[in-house]
Amino acid sequence: MSVWETLTGQDAVVDTLVTAASAAALIGGPDGAIAAARAGMTHSWLFTGPSGAGRVDVARTFAAALSCERATAAPAPDEPPGLPGCGECVGCHTVLTDTAADLRTVRAEGLSLGVHDVRALVRDAASAPTSGRYRILLIEEADRLTDSAANALLKALEEPADRSVFLLCAPSVDDVMPTIRSRCRVVALRLPSVDDLVTALLRDGVDERAAQVAARAAQGHLGRARLLAVDDQARARRAQVLALPGRLGRAAECLAAAADLVAAANADADAANSERDEVEAEALRTALGVGATSSGATGRSKRPTKSAPKAAPKARTMMVRGAAGALKDLEKSQKSRGRRTVLDSLDRALLDLAGLYRDVLARQLGATVDPVNPDAAAEIGRLAAAATPERTLRRLEAVLATRDALAANPGLVAQLAVESLALGLRDA
Ligand SMILES: [Zn+2]
Repeated sequence: MSVWETLTGQDAVVDTLVTAASAAALIGGPDGAIAAARAGMTHSWLFTGPSGAGRVDVARTFAAALSCERATAAPAPDEPPGLPGCGECVGCHTVLTDTAADLRTVRAEGLSLGVHDVRALVRDAASAPTSGRYRILLIEEADRLTDSAANALLKALEEPADRSVFLLCAPSVDDVMPTIRSRCRVVALRLPSVDDLVTALLRDGVDERAAQVAARAAQGHLGRARLLAVDDQARARRAQVLALPGRLGRAAECLAAAADLVAAANADADAANSERDEVEAEALRTALGVGATSSGATGRSKRPTKSAPKAAPKARTMMVRGAAGALKDLEKSQKSRGRRTVLDSLDRALLDLAGLYRDVLARQLGATVDPVNPDAAAEIGRLAAAATPERTLRRLEAVLATRDALAANPGLVAQLAVESLALGLRDA
């Protein structure tokens, strides 16, 4: 299957990218660089689109097409050259599985992407590709670049190496520095429609009814649709969120509902990260030779062995100090990753809540639009009967304002923000 067939709802963008990748396949041939540039191939690309549109999927698919071997293989006589992105050759396959020697991916696992990661990427960009046509540098969250990281990247974009291609992803062009975006060709993705998502879920083997519900509830987010279609816990979390408006009675009940929402987000983060955190810490301790958490290993680290002679105590103290610093750094980055997972989980919950109030408002106004939550019709009817459209609108706005506040200021205490929202929803 061609790599392009796996993309959902991005037909216009696919045309642009296929054209550029086809032209890029001419690189190396006579006047190849000129022909490629003429067809819109360039050194830096910026993929923008709302969360769920699949920015990284599209960028990676383009990377596969740029690395596809089928595109440059000499076609049989009377046959046109193959479209780049066959999905079957080594070039396509290694890019899609993130094992290609000429592809380097940087993702911000914490709240920001630092200068250290970007410098390594820029160094990489300067070297020639080993096997493919291009050295491809994929930055999954260009919106999380720190200022110094962005400046380091800018230098590389200003003077790109001949065979390097930067693929940046961000929610919108406003999320990256103007000097960076002005050097990129922007590819704007659209949010997949409900029909697009249903098609993708059916292709995954999900049954029609579950696909319809999940596609609507996901509000354009393919990953979320997939999760809701198959994961019981994700469905339970959504049910918990949709039940929240019904729990907002006395102040204590509002605070309890808020606490439950935050606790669920924390549990999501723990489930996602705790095992990985421990494995990373253990690996670092072993690498630094400071012993593992078990008492036996700690005991061993205190006792000098033959391989650590007597003359070494000073060096050893310095090494242990260095190790403590490295472990502290790891702890810090894990904390940042955990915090981000909590915020992502809360963001999904708030989006579910906004979808519910949107359905309530549509019901109150008699609007004939498809509901986001066709499976919560009873609750929607109850909320619609219990309030005026004005109140519902204020509630919807309050949910969206909290979402924006948490997105704009990740340092905000989530518990307080959600408590304030719960009380605000009651009093709206
Ligand atoms: Zn291929």
